[in-house]
Amino acid sequence: MADEVQEFDVVIIGGGPGGYAAALYGAAAGLHIAMIERDKVGGTCLHRGCVPAKEFLETAHVRRTIEHAGAFGFAVEGLNTDFAVSQRRKGEVVDKLHKGLSGLLKGRKVTIFEGTGRLEADRTVRVVDGTDAGVVCRGRDVILAAGSVPRTLPGFDLDGTFVLTSDEFLDLSSLPASAVVIGGGAIGCEFASMLADMGTTVTILEGLPTILAGCDSEVVNVIQRVFKKRGIEVRTGVNVTGHTPVAGATTTAVHVEGGDDVEVEAVILAVGRRPRSEGLLGEGTGVEVNDRGFVVADPVMRTANPHVYAIGDIVANTPQLAHVGFAEAIVAIKSILGEPATPVDYDRVPWAIYSNPEVAFCGLTEAAAKERGYEVVVKKDPFGGNSRAQIIGETDGVVKIIAEKRPDGSAGQILGVHMAGPWVTEQLGAGYYAVNWEATAEEAAGLIQPHPSLSETFGETLLALAGRGLHIG
Ligand code: FAD
Repeated sequence: MADEVQEFDVVIIGGGPGGYAAALYGAAAGLHIAMIERDKVGGTCLHRGCVPAKEFLETAHVRRTIEHAGAFGFAVEGLNTDFAVSQRRKGEVVDKLHKGLSGLLKGRKVTIFEGTGRLEADRTVRVVDGTDAGVVCRGRDVILAAGSVPRTLPGFDLDGTFVLTSDEFLDLSSLPASAVVIGGGAIGCEFASMLADMGTTVTILEGLPTILAGCDSEVVNVIQRVFKKRGIEVRTGVNVTGHTPVAGATTTAVHVEGGDDVEVEAVILAVGRRPRSEGLLGEGTGVEVNDRGFVVADPVMRTANPHVYAIGDIVANTPQLAHVGFAEAIVAIKSILGEPATPVDYDRVPWAIYSNPEVAFCGLTEAAAKERGYEVVVKKDPFGGNSRAQIIGETDGVVKIIAEKRPDGSAGQILGVHMAGPWVTEQLGAGYYAVNWEATAEEAAGLIQPHPSLSETFGETLLALAGRGLHIG
């Protein structure tokens, strides 16, 4: 007998930020939705990504605050660190958010099936394992939101002892005394920063000529300089070939081609993430997958099959960010509803890196703007002169804004806003609006920043860009 097929408006495979945002947004629009999740709703972001990583960066922030308390007149002696407490706290934060999300989905009447979903022909999804194995459902439309998993490197097999990906690292209940972080991207720099603040000796090994590739070079310079000051060794343009545990010791020697080994207690791989597309597609789905396993989608997130959409980390050639998944979810649901859907402008999404100092940016870097043929006007203001930065004692950083040069040489439309410094991840919003509303320097400079605030550095950079800075030329 053929399996009974349950009918829905939309069936979503994967309950991470992409999948759950599509479920909540679709349900808010009155769609009857099923979501299939093989692990826990919340996905990488909530359980193994953004939230746990930022919890540990906050742990590092608290420790820095205690260490610098003497400057404010507090004598703190004998600082004892128990990372297991932080690990437990992380668990509590994640659990609370997980319960909240589960409640929201239930409240919106999203049907959740537990198990691994596989798309088959005719918009049918089969649950192939887990509690709901055997369930078959069909959507008028289907959304693929299966996300991604950490990549590994040849020569660095996960061994449960020395080599960790972000998944294992974020579950540690004690921290190593020394570590190599392979990969100097956003995740690698966040981990290195957090470890250094917690007292671990850290080396970043990066294959590219720079860490934080894709960030504006002046932002990278700030991070490199501060990392160096804090004792983080950064080696770029290096090729790691493997590692050999040191006999009779709790360390392993990481081999760097043409260079000295680095002996450490832990090797953390932060070398990117691959799509979780194995087994996702059965026969005859009509969905195109590229040679790296990512699903190919058009600007409104439709795959080669017009009734199958893809969103989030699994989509080819898009930034792997939770909020990009949210935005794509809204685009996909609007397309399904037949409403006008503005595609995500990937050149202008906000980026936030929660290292110490933080990094945040939106729009084109100076180099990218020039590569695209723009003549530019650039202004920058360091945080050193900002009163709030001095009050909180965190003056490393810069705001840099790039605008298109008008024929008369003045600054026109703002093309990019780049920040490194204290709490810049919370300050980028104004820069994001400026870039996306295609504001000119004068328009954005006409708006007021509160005093004393860190955001005044952004305001001051805008004034200078518009031709008359109060503090900078
Ligand atoms: P995922 O979050 O990976 O979710 C996919 C879900 O689908 C999972 O729950 C999985 O179990 C499920 N699934 C997979 N296959 C199937 C199947 N066949 N059937 C049923 N279920 C399936 N992004 C930011 O924006 N800001 C940050 O600060 C940030 N920090 C990060 C820090 C770390 C350490 C990491 C690893 C990532 C970070 N990210 C950050 C990236 C962010 O976590 C991802 O971009 C986001 O989680 C992607 O969402 P998604 O829904 O596409 O996929």
